[in-house]
Amino acid sequence: MSKIPEMFGSMVFGDRVMRERLPKDIYKALQNTIKTGKPIASEIADVVANAMKDWAIEKGATHYTHWFQPMTGITAEKHDSFIQPAEGGTVIMNFSGKQLIKGEPDASSFPSGGLRSTFEARGYTAWDPTSYAFVKDTVLYIPTAFLSYSGQVLDKKTPLLRSMDTINKAALRILKLFGKTPDRVTASVGPEQEYFLIPRELYKKRPDLIITGRTLFGARPPKGQELDDHYFGNIKTRVREYMEDLDEELWKLGIYAKTRHNEVAPAQHELAPIYSTVNIATDHNQLTMSVMRKIAKKHDLVCLLHEKPFAGVNGSGKHNNWSISTSDGENLLEPGKDLKNNLQFMLFLAAIIKAVDEHQDLLRLSVATAGNDHRLGANEAPPAIISMFLGDEITDLLETLASGKEYRNHIGNKLSAGVDSVPLIYEDTTDRNRTSPFAFTGNKFEFRSLGSALNIACPNIMINAIVADVLNEFADRLEGAADFKKAATALIKKVYIDHRRIVFNGDNYAEEWRAEAARRGLLNLKSTPEALSYYDRKENVELFERLKIYTAEEVRARKDILLENYCKVINIEALTMCDITLKQILPAAMEFSTRLADNVAKLTALGVDAKAQKAMLENVSMLINCAYASEQKLAEAQLDVRNETDLQNEANACYASVLSAMQELRTYCDRLETLVPKELWPFPTYSDLLLYV
Ligand code: ADP
Ligand code: MG
Repeated sequence: MSKIPEMFGSMVFGDRVMRERLPKDIYKALQNTIKTGKPIASEIADVVANAMKDWAIEKGATHYTHWFQPMTGITAEKHDSFIQPAEGGTVIMNFSGKQLIKGEPDASSFPSGGLRSTFEARGYTAWDPTSYAFVKDTVLYIPTAFLSYSGQVLDKKTPLLRSMDTINKAALRILKLFGKTPDRVTASVGPEQEYFLIPRELYKKRPDLIITGRTLFGARPPKGQELDDHYFGNIKTRVREYMEDLDEELWKLGIYAKTRHNEVAPAQHELAPIYSTVNIATDHNQLTMSVMRKIAKKHDLVCLLHEKPFAGVNGSGKHNNWSISTSDGENLLEPGKDLKNNLQFMLFLAAIIKAVDEHQDLLRLSVATAGNDHRLGANEAPPAIISMFLGDEITDLLETLASGKEYRNHIGNKLSAGVDSVPLIYEDTTDRNRTSPFAFTGNKFEFRSLGSALNIACPNIMINAIVADVLNEFADRLEGAADFKKAATALIKKVYIDHRRIVFNGDNYAEEWRAEAARRGLLNLKSTPEALSYYDRKENVELFERLKIYTAEEVRARKDILLENYCKVINIEALTMCDITLKQILPAAMEFSTRLADNVAKLTALGVDAKAQKAMLENVSMLINCAYASEQKLAEAQLDVRNETDLQNEANACYASVLSAMQELRTYCDRLETLVPKELWPFPTYSDLLLYV
């Protein structure tokens, strides 16, 4: 591997390249745009575009694309070559400032949730200069936001940028009360990405994986994850080679790929980058997922990013580590050594507590997808109930404050590792609770409910927005206070008393927590349709309008897009199941029953006892009958649902009737899998897929 520092970011039109290639005044003007977010002048854009093009061509690029994140959840790109006709049938390579700044993809092919029928069909992409352009596979990628001509947002990036702006402004107001005036406050995120790797030749034999990204059938393997021998285990050579290639490609793209390890399930792994500003982290995470898939191909593997590719085996999540810090380098979620006297930290913390409690629904629905429904609450991921983990120390402090008693600090209980050569470590003030959906982990919050396939923009829009809104409310109250310290302390106390029901430091997987959460009046939104029904609640619409992140219309459009997506996913899964049952599973099972019947007939003719064979035959025949009846039921349920005219009702019905019919069909087919001989079974089993070397 070549030297990493030289290789790092070599395919990125980043600060170093800009400094080298742009005239000083242009560089400065561009930096100013990046810092202030003000529009870029066309003369400057022309110079930048030209330098970008020359650099990209040197890196092997022939095309450019405006890269954007429509509501489909994945990224979109359309490649245009740099060629421009010149005299005598020749071409020159050209790229103008106009082409850099603005693109016009056909918006009508992307989900708009009805915004399109009311308004113009056209949309445009606008360059986001805060996220660097890069070259990948002979294409210059320009990160952009995607909007309709009438100004409606059609993507995930624009509202994210808006939410960053709101939290910046709100946090600056609070900091001013503490006599601090940094230039900016930014939200940072480090997303830990889980994934599965399986052999490509086996994948190709599984239509369910190809069509839906998850296995719709599959009996539990004799060996799954019960021995706990995979987590942090020795990485197999084939996988390690994949990870090395992946790291290299990501580093070239300027992505801080840092940690790699095996996860809990067999064939499951994780990649964590070093955190960065949330819009960059979002772009980089989207890019990481696409590079993961691409590199897998090179190694004859397939990277599965679905939240639950295998039933009965851990699914894949994406932990969203979130913090806010100032341009002076101060992390506002750093409790410091003297927590008790850190009023500023406590005030920000109080704002987050209030925000999470008041907007459990928004956090929950920001991670709601058909795939993630298989994880949340399944004793492997946090439950669908949103609560916060603060750790004993912070909770003690808040409880003491609430009760009006004196607080005795217990930071610094020394823990001895019991081995002389291991230095003493201080007890982590936030003992790591792995089951909490929203956990304070020392100097950041870790939102753990995200599924592995999710675009992290939506949950971060929500976190930024709800926290910004409470910070604004705090600032309104405190800006005029006669005694700021006293008023702030009283506010923290009141907020904690009003919202402490959201704090839960115990085991979120325990059955008792569900009952306790219900007693506390916390929401338990079990399915995606139920969660999404909260999106356009009056309070939520008002919040987004107040913060200028979405209009009421945009909220409703987003809700519809997500509901529609949910219905489509369930529909595709149902149809795929019916197809596989009729064309692959039942024929294989019938083949086996014919074999058994022949065997029984021949043995009986010879006067030999065929009791076992007959019992097996009856069992297989019974399962064939049940599977066929279930398939018919599923097909019917799927058709019934399509008659619904209201999207919410359709989604509810998908959850209530189609999913349960799918589950029933699967049960019979999986039982058949355990009976039918391997050479007759139409596709690779869980053991084949997961326990490869
Ligand atoms: P875990 O123990 O959950 O695996 P790690 O300590 O490995 O977590 O860190 C997980 C992620 O958190 C990494 O992406 C890391 O860069 C990120 N992270 C660390 N500090 C911060 C911070 N202040 N703000 C946001 N993310 C952070
Ligand atoms: Mg984590």
